[in-house]
Amino acid sequence: MKVSVLALQGAFLEHEKKLAECGVEALEIRQWRDIEQSFDRLILPGGESTVMGKLLHELDLMTPLRALIEDGMPVMGTCAGLILLAERIADDSTVHLGTMGMTANRNAYGRQLGSFHTTAECRGIGTIPMTFIRAPHIASVSSAEPIAEIDGKIVAAKEGKQLALAFHPELDTDLRLHEYFLGL
Ligand code: GLN
Repeated sequence: MKVSVLALQGAFLEHEKKLAECGVEALEIRQWRDIEQSFDRLILPGGESTVMGKLLHELDLMTPLRALIEDGMPVMGTCAGLILLAERIADDSTVHLGTMGMTANRNAYGRQLGSFHTTAECRGIGTIPMTFIRAPHIASVSSAEPIAEIDGKIVAAKEGKQLALAFHPELDTDLRLHEYFLGL
């Protein structure tokens, strides 16, 4: 199995290390021609969604990546990647890939309280560590299904083979989330 990681900006190397630990080959998407390689899954890392969105447009990657996801390519978006997947961003008219039926609330935990670590239940996976860094949360869902909450806030959702996480499984030692994604 080959997994492409969007490698324009942000925490893509950490995902590549996790994929290596799972025994899976990681490819990087840095430009248009990289999506012509064959791969089976896509990871959208954490970073800054505004910057990634802008680069996706400039590099002509937005439309082909959206088409791949709409055609059923399994995708996991973490943190900024969640924002890229959301069909709506609260208090913002920007839509990036927009393939998941949910509203993302950027910087939902505020600038100061933005980073914390906890453990919580993720349905279908178990109780896992969760590291939040200036994290968004999912304010509401339309077609996506919430799979984890913390203090009443949705922090993970699934829709078909799309997985959106407000936290960073690539920064913890636990492999279960990546394994779950590889099994979708
Ligand atoms: N707040 C960032 C954004 O809006 C996401 C933070 C992260 O990915 N760690 O893109």
